[in-house]
Amino acid sequence: MRILFVASECFPYVKTGGLADVAASLPPALRALGADVRLLLPGYPGVLDRLRVMRTVRSLPSLPGLPDGARARLLGSLGEDDLTVYALDAPAFFAREGNPYQRPDGRDWPDNHLRFAALCRTAALMGLEGDGDGWVPDIIHGHDWQAGLVPAYLRHAGWVFDGKPVPGTVFTIHNLAFQGLFPPDVLRPLGLPSDTFTHEELEYYGKVGFLKAGLVYSDRLTTVSPTYAHEIQGWEMGFGLDGVLRRRANVLSGILNGIDLRHWDPATDPFITQRYDSGQLDRRAANKADLQRAFGLEVRPDALLFGVVSRLTHQKGIDLIVQALPRIMGLGGQVAVLGTGSAELEQALADASADHKGRVGLRLAYDEGLSHRVQAGADVLMVPSRFEPCGLTQMYALRYGTLPLVTPVGGLADTVADVTEAALAHRTATGFVTDAVDLPALLRAVERAAGLYRHGELWRQVQRTAMGRDVGWEASAQAYLGLYTSLQVDSTSMSQ
Ligand code: ADP
Repeated sequence: MRILFVASECFPYVKTGGLADVAASLPPALRALGADVRLLLPGYPGVLDRLRVMRTVRSLPSLPGLPDGARARLLGSLGEDDLTVYALDAPAFFAREGNPYQRPDGRDWPDNHLRFAALCRTAALMGLEGDGDGWVPDIIHGHDWQAGLVPAYLRHAGWVFDGKPVPGTVFTIHNLAFQGLFPPDVLRPLGLPSDTFTHEELEYYGKVGFLKAGLVYSDRLTTVSPTYAHEIQGWEMGFGLDGVLRRRANVLSGILNGIDLRHWDPATDPFITQRYDSGQLDRRAANKADLQRAFGLEVRPDALLFGVVSRLTHQKGIDLIVQALPRIMGLGGQVAVLGTGSAELEQALADASADHKGRVGLRLAYDEGLSHRVQAGADVLMVPSRFEPCGLTQMYALRYGTLPLVTPVGGLADTVADVTEAALAHRTATGFVTDAVDLPALLRAVERAAGLYRHGELWRQVQRTAMGRDVGWEASAQAYLGLYTSLQVDSTSMSQ
């Protein structure tokens, strides 16, 4: 089975969040099960610089909005893990340093609709005509709004109906909050018919929605945890798309993300001071001291150390963490925050770290290596998100024996088992789940964590259970494969 992944980011080429980790680690897991998965990425500098042995597989003359005479071609290469990676080399769209979606001043690139429509158009073309080297996908699997127009082009572009088989389409929602919304006058330059601008198709409250296109036209929809699949069909977390999702509930499923155990394993992690496994928990002390030093915290082995590795946004509940700091300080705890995000939250954290010198440490940076050191050195990893499609950091934390403290939403609810008396007795507890998404609930969970920390042996028991949890990709890759297969069965029965 041939599958083309379409994503706007992929570790290690370009990463702003969890999507990059999924795009890097799910394809190899699928390949291990026998699927021929390849990946199409925008040709950002970070992608073109890192790919090896690139060859042009086809030129792409007619991308929407491409300035006259500008170059656009599809490059093919062997990337990490010998995965075939295609890059859409269109310098007019992608030869920009820095964040893939935003200008240096933090505002969106004004031509984002053209940039990602070009990616989608290229994917659709590959789906119909192949990559230029004879490889034609059976299924195109798009991720998030940047890939939302793939099925729109497959359905509406004139070149579909000349007898070529159309690939099946799967669309995965990694975060419903990011929707790719643009004014209605973009339809014409994108080459999509104006009669698609209806509530049933592309219109979202007066705008054209790329994510909505993915939801409306794809054969199968998935999101990254079973709980989130349920939540987004409700008003509160549906971001105005809950009606569409309810209509498509029969093709929507939740498949949990896994983590890449080759990069996230405390026994082999090259970034951390002292490697360890679940039988060597005392070795974590060296990592804790390293982390305390790196964040300017007092080096105190007994202080309960809360780590945070996150985008600093309202979604992630960072404001709740700021408000919880006095209580954590009162309990003798420490906090180390690694992240970047909203100016307001960055400032609030900077003020707190000035007020609590040596006890609240802050690094306003995106730093992959340091994120590993937080995971290996903290006692607790805090993720009090208001909504969380899946969340990866709590799974890294499980793997590293850093007990996650999470809210009961989305993938957090699906991956962390609360420390209750019964769960302790059955040795199934892996972390702390708040009983609501607000400050009092967060404080209650913080106090429970401090309480358990005083019982060293029980704490270590929970650490060992957490480290033994299966957070790899295999089960989920099997689920995706099942989904692809069901789609192929459908299309065979339709063509008979
Ligand atoms: P989201 O995709 O919503 O940001 P996830 O938990 O799914 O949240 O994924 C976040 C990914 O980004 C994780 O791999 C996490 O380790 C990483 N990350 C977030 N902030 C930072 C940072 N400041 N430095 C390094 N890695 C970070």
